[in-house]
Amino acid sequence: MKKIAVFCGSSLGFSNVYKNDAIQLGNYFALNKISLVYGGGKIGMMGVLADTMLKKNGKVIGVIPGLLRHEEVAHARISEMIVTKTMSDRKVTISKLVDGYIALPGGFGTLDEIFEALTLSQLGIEQKPVGILNTNGFFNHLIKQLNVMVTEGYLKKSNKKMLIIASTVEELIIKMDAYTAPKITKVINKVVS
Ligand code: AMP
Repeated sequence: MKKIAVFCGSSLGFSNVYKNDAIQLGNYFALNKISLVYGGGKIGMMGVLADTMLKKNGKVIGVIPGLLRHEEVAHARISEMIVTKTMSDRKVTISKLVDGYIALPGGFGTLDEIFEALTLSQLGIEQKPVGILNTNGFFNHLIKQLNVMVTEGYLKKSNKKMLIIASTVEELIIKMDAYTAPKITKVINKVVS
């Protein structure tokens, strides 16, 4: 993987454990020459991640919708900033750029983005690895909810496996590198192509 999208909070959270996730991931990317593609913000987890990479001369590409660009939140020092018309265009642009997706702790925006990536996988539109860094059990309740969705018949067990879960950066990247997308039936491929 050469370019990875990272979705994470526009807030920092209350515990330093999560901020540390952003620092560890940023350092890993810079060291291993993986470019970061992200929401383009300078605030919260996003800002820490981008700043960490910039300190180590890593490549950081922001993709921000026009409406957020003029707010005080856009990062001014990143390698490249792509401005899109809408929030939906931003997702499409990000998906065209990257080889995989990672979510760190965050809120609605983070979940929206990572579940969109999973939905693309589920429909067979993309075959890229999608992972979450579950430090401190942050995503434990979400994982339980996914299990409820399986037992209640709304999510296929095989599709649940599309979400890669790890508690360290190294473990996450190893699992993502080893990921092979399951075969999706032709009927769905026809519908979406
Ligand atoms: P949230 O998890 O609700 O804090 O939202 C974070 C995610 O939504 C990030 O991955 C961004 O892509 C996007 N986002 C939310 N707020 C901003 C912002 N102020 N600037 C840029 N992107 C943002």
